[in-house]
Amino acid sequence: MRDEMKLDGSATQPDGGGIASPGRFRSLCVFAGSRIGYDPAHRDAAQALGILLAKRRIRLIYGGGSIGLMGVTAKAALNNGGEVTGIIPDFLMSLEVGDPGVTELIVVDSMHARKALMFEKADGFVVLPGGLGTIDETIEIATWKQLQLHKKPIVVVNVSGYWGGLASLLSEVVEGGYAHHGISGLLTFVESVEEVFPALASASPPSREVLTSHL
Ligand code: AMP
Repeated sequence: MRDEMKLDGSATQPDGGGIASPGRFRSLCVFAGSRIGYDPAHRDAAQALGILLAKRRIRLIYGGGSIGLMGVTAKAALNNGGEVTGIIPDFLMSLEVGDPGVTELIVVDSMHARKALMFEKADGFVVLPGGLGTIDETIEIATWKQLQLHKKPIVVVNVSGYWGGLASLLSEVVEGGYAHHGISGLLTFVESVEEVFPALASASPPSREVLTSHL
């Protein structure tokens, strides 16, 4: 995996000034549900994020579908002149209705290939509400960071408190003795889309202690 993906995160250099300029973050990967969810605030957040990415000229990297919150973000970015790369496994093309007019659609042969390519193409990650797929993608990218395979920021948008359970689970993992307390620094939780870009800019790199304190 490491050889294929060059997991060094070297493209990411937070600017510390609260604005992620295209020079620092040329592309961001958004993980989000393939369903729309019941809370209209989630759709609003997905839309707002797509618009902000377009306005900041940051390329959206995402799962390639036109459905759910993922589709809302992609369409908002596209409708506002943004650049969008969708990455979708061939077997999901019909289910997730791949290609809502994206700038670039890459069809891969597996979920693993999709995740690897999304990782490779993004300078950072933003997590919106979603289901098991969103959780899987978020945890895997955080795990790679814990293993020091990359330094890319991961910002979780806790819209209406949706990801509170995930934050609690991470605390329980630490309290149970299965991770260093520093894992809380692997992900940055924010309450709104407006906080995403300052959080990306100020996210700290993973500490080696998180990986090695128990070894
Ligand atoms: P969900 O949050 O379950 O609606 O899924 C969000 C996105 O994640 C969808 O595009 C799913 O196809 C995708 N997904 C689901 N499971 C996985 C997985 N194991 N690896 C990569 N992507 C996944």
